Amino acid sequence: MKVLLAEDSRANQMLIRAYVEEAGHEVVIAENGLQAVNMFENEQPDLVILDVTMPVMDGIEAAKEIRKLTDSEQGWIPIVFLSAMTDSNDIVRAIDAGGDDYLTKPIDSIVLNAKLRAMQRIAEMRQELQKANRELKLITEKDGLTGLANRRHFDAAMLKEVKRCARTKKPLSIVMCDIDKFKLFNDNYGHQSGDDCLRAVSNAMKVVAKRPGDLVARYGGEEFAIILPETDLAGAQKIAELLRTVVNRLAVPHAFSSTADHVTISLGVASSQPQKGDDRDEVIHLLIESADQRLYRAKEQGRNRVVAD
Ligand code: GH3
Ligand code: MG
Ligand code: MG
Ligand code: MG
Repeated sequence: MKVLLAEDSRANQMLIRAYVEEAGHEVVIAENGLQAVNMFENEQPDLVILDVTMPVMDGIEAAKEIRKLTDSEQGWIPIVFLSAMTDSNDIVRAIDAGGDDYLTKPIDSIVLNAKLRAMQRIAEMRQELQKANRELKLITEKDGLTGLANRRHFDAAMLKEVKRCARTKKPLSIVMCDIDKFKLFNDNYGHQSGDDCLRAVSNAMKVVAKRPGDLVARYGGEEFAIILPETDLAGAQKIAELLRTVVNRLAVPHAFSSTADHVTISLGVASSQPQKGDDRDEVIHLLIESADQRLYRAKEQGRNRVVAD
């Protein structure tokens, strides 16, 4: 483990460093609480030991600051306080401030060692839990068949992007896309082939919409929605046209389609310039509705085409 030790007394610094290093850990030292908070961000320690009484910023304040940082960025890191045996109020305040345990001065190397082991055990459990949570999040955000973002992830991403584009004053565009005559594909080639086709089309879309903010989602059965942040209508239209071309080039045979001898898609494009203070749900509703209507017109006009106005 990497241990960040904040302690103003030189004698204690040396003593604790020796104990912790002897137990096989690395030590970095801060002279006060403020330095500890700053070092915490750069050093990314696995455990923090904070003396309660220090100049500039005491251990209690430092723990509060560190807890603010760990909520979002680094995950949970154990904090152990150092306090004189007599200051029981200190210990209560320290635990309330986000501390996990305390050591009383003078420091006993055996107790210190035991507590380091206990904290390491908890830290490892927390890390496993975080990993499991990340995996769980991925599962709840992904469509099982295609590996694309699912509808739920799409909805969350739209809220985020409306907000972002209002802030950056850049347009937000979406493309709604539907496979042409897919019922006939399924009816004639079977459901398995239908699934294979959905996967092939999905993969092609992922390749086209590849900017970091772009998101391709499976919106419904054979319907896809692509979020294109910071992209205007003309740009989104180009992407849509590219999607159409790429799916054509896949050349998945479809002898029962009225549009071509292979699988094709129809697309509707819409764009909006979100403003600060807009009702975000309303912006999203209008965007989707507009793209949907254009997709419908693309179908009406003969399929295998893009409509953007
Ligand atoms: P259009 O050109 O007007 O879009 O005609 P369409 O046949 O594609 O439209 P329709 O909505 O009538 O049919 C959609 C079909 O998509 C119905 C179903 O057979 C198929 N489908 C939807 N989800 C899945 C899926 O997960 N797997 C497979 N294999 N097929 C699916
Ligand atoms: Mg002190
Ligand atoms: Mg269809
Ligand atoms: Mg459909």
